[in-house]
Amino acid sequence: MILLQTIPDLRRHLEERRRQLPAGAVVGLVPTMGALHAGHVSLIHAARKDCDCVVVSIFVNPTQFGPAEDYHAYPRTPQADCEVCERNGVDVIFQPDPHEIYPVPPRTQVHVAGLTAGLCGRSRPGHFDGVCLVVCKLFNIVQPQRAYFGQKDAQQATVIRRMAADLDFPIDIVVCPTVREPDGLALSSRNAYLTAEQRRQASALYQALQAMQQAVREGLRRAPEITARGRAIIQASGPAAIDYLELVDPESLEPVESVDQPVLAALAVRLGRCRLIDNMPIEPLPVPCWTATPETR
Ligand code: AMP
Repeated sequence: MILLQTIPDLRRHLEERRRQLPAGAVVGLVPTMGALHAGHVSLIHAARKDCDCVVVSIFVNPTQFGPAEDYHAYPRTPQADCEVCERNGVDVIFQPDPHEIYPVPPRTQVHVAGLTAGLCGRSRPGHFDGVCLVVCKLFNIVQPQRAYFGQKDAQQATVIRRMAADLDFPIDIVVCPTVREPDGLALSSRNAYLTAEQRRQASALYQALQAMQQAVREGLRRAPEITARGRAIIQASGPAAIDYLELVDPESLEPVESVDQPVLAALAVRLGRCRLIDNMPIEPLPVPCWTATPETR
């Protein structure tokens, strides 16, 4: 494994590797902000399985944080991250300084309209523009054939997929399932901010998603009735500010009124200074259909 910190060094290294690998070799990119956990490792494993060369980028991207957000406090654990990468068969870590990626303030914006308006986009204006800008830059710097993202950040994955399609990046966007703690809490670098009490309370997010799934299984179809079940669980768990809790179309991310097709249940909740997000795809069971047979006729 090699750790590189500048764009020219990375480009040179990957050029050399591509020369050595057989024609058609696949480079996979796993973009991260570090403080690596088992969720990130699942993306690394997926990339390791599919690709000849696995590049993990570790970069806390300033342009995706709002002025009042946690850019400076975001956990940074570079030494431990290197060990995780080494143990899990990563070939190249790209860990640039902010100045390497943004030598001057960027004037270019990458805005995916519509998909970024709701859910996290509503309370984090400009967040997805920052994500798209840095992912675009990483795609250009690394030029991978595949890039790996987590379902945990479902809106991000949908936005990136659309950006890659709209801008003709010849890159397969692979979305990997959410890795959870035994009590259902989705792994996140931000879980480190939780107090012991908030950590106990945080399992209510997954319980809320499960309750909404259960409501659909019981035959509920109207979104307000289904989301009320999720809200009740979070409110009963203790002091929490629900940023959003919605059922949306998994492609357009538009809110749905009625669950007649597969939907995405998505939520963001603040516990103290920690904002947690999670989601669950939910499929309505087909309405039972009794076909008359000669016996039942
Ligand atoms: P981050 O370092 O938080 O920017 O995340 C880097 C990538 O890891 C993103 O594509 C995330 O969606 C993904 N990721 C984060 N947490 C999880 C998780 N619990 N399960 C699966 N993927 C995750």
